[in-house]
Order: sequence, then structure tokens, then C-alpha cells
Amino acid sequence: MSDTTPTLPVMTHSDLTTWWRCPRRVGYRLLGYEKPAITLSQAILRGTLFDRGVGAWLQGKDYKQVVEAKAKDIAEDGIWLLDNDIKLQEALEALGKAKTGAYEMLERYTTVTPKPIALEVQELIQYKEAGGHPDAVLLETSPLTALIIVDYKTGREPDLRYLSMSGQVDYYAYLYELTRKRTVTFIDYQVISEQGIHEYRRPPRLTRGKRFFGQVRLLAHLSLESLLDDPHVSYDCSSCPFFKPCLTREAGGDDFDILHSEYSRSEPRISEPGDSKVE
Ligand code: SF4
Repeated sequence: MSDTTPTLPVMTHSDLTTWWRCPRRVGYRLLGYEKPAITLSQAILRGTLFDRGVGAWLQGKDYKQVVEAKAKDIAEDGIWLLDNDIKLQEALEALGKAKTGAYEMLERYTTVTPKPIALEVQELIQYKEAGGHPDAVLLETSPLTALIIVDYKTGREPDLRYLSMSGQVDYYAYLYELTRKRTVTFIDYQVISEQGIHEYRRPPRLTRGKRFFGQVRLLAHLSLESLLDDPHVSYDCSSCPFFKPCLTREAGGDDFDILHSEYSRSEPRISEPGDSKVE
């Protein structure tokens, strides 16, 4: 007998918060389209390079090699898009500055931070159609044993109200406990900013994490057509990476023509077939 269970996408907390703002944006992401990284802002590139570097450091690798390799990938992946020498030069300069900034932060961070045991670094945790990539899952053994899910923040000092309200890491904690059958002791924001290095740590709110988990799974059951058919035009559009194809679609043009010619595309995210009933 063949398995007739429909194949569902893997959704994340980030997809959920994006869906609150605009379903169409999630539809384009679901298809695997993204702006080539080289076109992103210097601050975002610096954060990406920092995340890679700190992950390598936690695993005992040479973080400079990993950052160099990632910067090279970003440059090579995006060069085809930059249709003239001036744009290319500007993008490569921004990438170079992002790399310098990432090294400066890594230097400061790794000098003052004792290296804990890394259980997982930037790996996908997934339960059926709900997934997520915590920056790191760490084990502290002193003064007490504690399992900690870490989220790194770079750039400006974030608003503490945001860190206390955001449920993203609570969602990771719930997903981690569900899949790994281990108790998460703390969620921990490590902030590396121009003002210094700060840590905000608290126990996970698993009830909140579970609520987001249910919402993420429900999101995976929406059809791609319904997502793409539902644009929420707002001030967010001005910073949306899909502004151009979306407006083209609204004007009756071919958005996929633009997506094919100006966007990178990774494999669409599909979950394993199986029971997809959401409790
Ligand atoms: S441009 Fe606006 S309406 Fe279109 S996908 Fe982006 S956020 Fe949604």
C-alpha cells in the first residue's frame, strides 16, 4: 500500500513571525528563494560571519579559516548578480568590512569567555514539520551542571523588553526537550555589541514554546497557493527582500521570471512523510 500522506514543508519560528507580517513572503521563502547574501547589509553579513566563527570556536576549530571560507562562499555565490564593476567593488568592500568587524567581535568574545562544552552548534532540530536552528546548545559543568540554549546577538545592544518578550528561544527549548528528551536549564542571550559583552539568562518558558510549536505546525498545513495569494502590503514592504517580484505579481507581471534571474535558490524545505496531525 502506498503512503498517501501529503508531504509538508518544514516551518520555523522565523517563518511564523514572518507570516504574521506577510504570508506571501513566507511563500517565496518556502520555495527556497533568497536574496544572494552579498546584497545584504554589512551588519547582517557581520552577524552571519560572527555566527560561523563562534560556532567553529565552540567546536575547537580555527575560526579564522571558517570565517574566510564563508566570506569566500558569499562572494562567489553572489558575483553573478552584480552586473557592473562598481556594484561588485562596493559589495566586496562591504563584505571585507563585515569580515573585519566579525574578527574584532570574535577576538573580544573568545578572549573573555570560558569555552563551554558544545553539544550542538547550528544544527537543525526538527519534529515533523516544525524545525529550528539554535545558535548553540551548551553544557556547563561548573558551578552546577546546566544545559543551555544560546542565541548570539551582534551589533547594537538590543532592547531588553524584546529579549524578554520574544519566544523564539523558548520554542527551541521546547523542540529540544521533545526531540532529545533532555531538560533545558536556561536560555541564554549572548550580546556582543559596541557597548560591550553582556549575557541575559533565564529558564525557558516551555508553555510559551509549546504554543509557538503548535502554531508553526499549523502554518505548515497552509497551501503554497494560499500563502502566495495573500500579500499584506504595509510599511514592512520597503525592507522586504521580495519587494520587486511581489509588486510585479500585483501588476500582473511574471514574478517568477525575476525570482529566477535575481535570486539564489536552495532546495525547498520538505518534512519526512508521516503522521502530521497537530494536537
Ligand atoms: S513586498 Fe510587502 S506584500 Fe509583498 S511579499 Fe514583501 S511584505 Fe509581502
